[in-house]
Amino acid sequence: MTSPVWHPFTQHGLEEPIPQVVRSEGAALYTVDGRRIIDGISSWWVTTHGHCEPRIMAAIAEQAGQLDQLIFAGWTHEPAEALARELCATMPDQLTRVFYTDSGSTSVEVALKMALGTWAARGKLRHRIIVMDHSYHGDTIGAMSVGARGTFNRTYEPLLFDVTRIPFPAAGSEQDTLDALARACADDEAAALIVEPLVLGAGGMMMYPPAILTEMHAICARAGVLFIADEVMTGWGRTGTLRACEQAGIVPDIMCLSKGLTGGSVPLAVTMASEEVFQAHYSTDRARMFFHSSSYTANPIACAAALANLAIWREEPVLERVANLAQRQAECLDALAATAPIRNPRRCGTIAAFEVAGEDSYLDEAAPRLMAYFREHDVLLRPLGNTIYVMPPYCIDDSDLDHIYNVIAHAIAER
Ligand SMILES: *Cc1c(COP(=O)(O)O)cnc(C)c1O
Repeated sequence: MTSPVWHPFTQHGLEEPIPQVVRSEGAALYTVDGRRIIDGISSWWVTTHGHCEPRIMAAIAEQAGQLDQLIFAGWTHEPAEALARELCATMPDQLTRVFYTDSGSTSVEVALKMALGTWAARGKLRHRIIVMDHSYHGDTIGAMSVGARGTFNRTYEPLLFDVTRIPFPAAGSEQDTLDALARACADDEAAALIVEPLVLGAGGMMMYPPAILTEMHAICARAGVLFIADEVMTGWGRTGTLRACEQAGIVPDIMCLSKGLTGGSVPLAVTMASEEVFQAHYSTDRARMFFHSSSYTANPIACAAALANLAIWREEPVLERVANLAQRQAECLDALAATAPIRNPRRCGTIAAFEVAGEDSYLDEAAPRLMAYFREHDVLLRPLGNTIYVMPPYCIDDSDLDHIYNVIAHAIAER
């Protein structure tokens, strides 16, 4: 009997094999037929420290015996209170408020709604969002609207709202991006810029330098346009620092966090906001409250997992592990570039990426063929078109990382 499961980003008509995983530990996944697979993409960019991290698993088990779920409108619980306090203590002082949701996409929807609410309170109904070409902010209608248009969302185009686009700051044409942003900010409809800091993930692991991010923030600040940092993928050490914006020395007005927030164990997201954004919604008028909720907002078990993640960040040398992985990634990438015909090798923190021969399109045939080859050789990698990237959990050891790069080298040589 065929499975009734409808998988995400999967063309079932191709009948590609869908391995079943029964257990995970560290950087490894174990399949039902006893194979050990190396997780080269942190299970879609979420697993930071490693799979089944013992402190996080213990926190989940303990919370599960106490309080499972609670309505969060008008009620509260200690895991959410403690987590919000910890996040405020860990993140920059200017981000004083924590709004809970359950995925990266919803944290982005919340950020956009907060931006419009802030402008409403300023007495101006601004609604235009400025976005960067090739960006990705999630798959809900609002998140798709502020992301790149193309293969992913052509069918839904009539439902997507208009935005102002600025070009990606490719090396040599950074000034075009800054000029376009300045023009976009001069529009008296401009409400906010939303941007993935330093690395555009789903757009193809495109990277740009911190100095450009600093400039972009300054342009928005001068124009009073709100700056939304989507750190859903880049947060929690991925780019070498806790937040990617840290490297640019900037603090956004609104920041989205998810993926590594719970170490990648259970779903949770937050949208952190400046005091101005919160105060814009603060009033004795019920009509001015922030109209947003999801059923599992601030789920206590997920909050406990995130608290354990923050304890690991506080008490263990996570940034040292990140720096160590970044260094090893650099060495592996250099070695590969010296022997294999790859293009544009690049790295930001723990993320390494490059292109192989093929078309620069998500639907390029390179991806499924490479993916099958990697799967047959016990490595989980999921190229974006002809872009291959390696983004493992921070605990991966040398032999597993070497195996990933050996398999990549063979895959390229055999094409
Ligand atoms: C993954 C991602 C999202 C969406 O998060 P989901 O939890 O998958 O909804 C949003 N923004 C960025 C930058 C992402 O990488």
